[in-house]
Amino acid sequence: MSTVGILGGGQLARMLALAGAPLGLRFLVMDTSAEACAGQFVPMVVGDWRDEAALAEFARRVDVATFDFENVPAESAEWLAARIPVFPAPRALAVAQDRLAEKTLFNELGIATPAFAAVDSKDSLAAAVARIGTPCILKTRRLGYDGKGQFRLKSHEDLEAAWQTLGPQAASVGLILEAFVPFEREVSVVAVRGRDGAFRAWPLTENWHRMGILSASMAPAAGAGELAPRAVAHARTVAEALDYVGVFALELFVQGGELLANEMAPRVHNSGHWTIEGAETSQFQNHLRAVLGLPLGETAALGHSVMLNWVGELPPAAPLLSSPAGHWHDYGKSPRAGRKVGHATLRADDRATLAAELQRVASALGREAEFAPVLARLRG
Ligand code: AMP
Repeated sequence: MSTVGILGGGQLARMLALAGAPLGLRFLVMDTSAEACAGQFVPMVVGDWRDEAALAEFARRVDVATFDFENVPAESAEWLAARIPVFPAPRALAVAQDRLAEKTLFNELGIATPAFAAVDSKDSLAAAVARIGTPCILKTRRLGYDGKGQFRLKSHEDLEAAWQTLGPQAASVGLILEAFVPFEREVSVVAVRGRDGAFRAWPLTENWHRMGILSASMAPAAGAGELAPRAVAHARTVAEALDYVGVFALELFVQGGELLANEMAPRVHNSGHWTIEGAETSQFQNHLRAVLGLPLGETAALGHSVMLNWVGELPPAAPLLSSPAGHWHDYGKSPRAGRKVGHATLRADDRATLAAELQRVASALGREAEFAPVLARLRG
C-alpha cells in the first residue's frame, strides 16, 4: 500500500484523500498550520516549508509527494525531490509559480497571452504602462492568488497609487504588468498527464469570477465550438514542454473568438471540482493515478454540471441537499472573508433540467443576481 504525501493541507488535499480511499491509498499532509482542514481526517506533519526536520519526517513517511499548494518554496520541493519522487517536478512548479516565466513560456510555445512586461522599478512601470497602454493590471509575479497582489490601472493617473501599493513587493516577489483584456468569457482546461506521457483533458469549463475569486464553473462549456479543441491542444503543448506529471489547469480568456492564456495552476484546480460528480473520473483520482504511475481514467462528462463556490461562509445546505441534482461539499473550515469554505455541484442529464434546478437553488438562497450569467449561458 502506498502513502501519498501532500504538501499543503487545505481543501484540495482533503478532496485528494477522499478520492484516494477507493484506491487503497494512505495519506500524510504537511502544512504550516495545525488547523489545515485536511488534518481533520488525514495524518499531518505541521512545520514551516523551510524546516528541514519537518520535511525529513514527511519524506520518511511517504512513498511519493505532491502538492495542494503551489507556493511551496521551489528549494523545499527540490530538497524533497532529491530524496523521494515528487510530482509535478520542481521545475514545472517553478515555472507555474512565476507569472512572468509562465507567460514567456506560453509565447515561446506559440500560445498567445495578454501583452505583458516585467516591472522592477517605478521607471520601468511607467515605461511598461506607456507601451501596453491602459487599462492594465499590475500583479505580483509570485505568491499571488485569488486576485490578491493585483492593482488595476484605469489610466496613467493610477501609476503612483499602483506603485505605492505593490512597489514595496517588487524586490521580494517581482512584478508584471499585463494588458487588461475585455474578455467575452473565461474558460479553463483541466488536464492530466501520466508518468508515461499519456494525456487526457476534461471537457472545457467556463468560469465566472467575483472580485478575483472563482464564483461558478460550468462544464462542458456551452457553445465553445472550435475553441475547445484549441484550448486542449494548448494544454497538451504546455504539459509536454514541462514534462508535466499530474493534473493542472490552464486558464484562458476568450476575446474576439481568440484564446489568450492567463495562467497555469500546477495542481488540481477549483474549476475542476465539478468532475467529482460530473465526470467519469474526477480530477482528484486522476491526479493520484498520474503521480503513482497508474493508468488514467476516462475524463468524459456525465451530463452537464454547474459548480457554485462558497466564499466567506456557507449558505444554508438544505436547498442543495434537497435538489435531485445537488451535491454538497463543506470543507470544515471556519468562516472568513474571501476564504473558500465549500462548494456545491449541480449535475443533470441535460441543460434544461440543470437550468431549472439552478434557478430553484438560486432563488431559495436569494442569489439570483449572482448566478444570472450562468443561467443565461445554460439557457443560451
Ligand atoms: P488571476 O489571479 O491572474 O487568475 O486573476 C484573477 C481574475 O482576475 C481572472 O480570473 C480575471 O477575472 C481577472 N483578470 C486577471 N488578469 C486579467 C487581465 N489581464 N485582463 C482582464 N482580467 C483579468
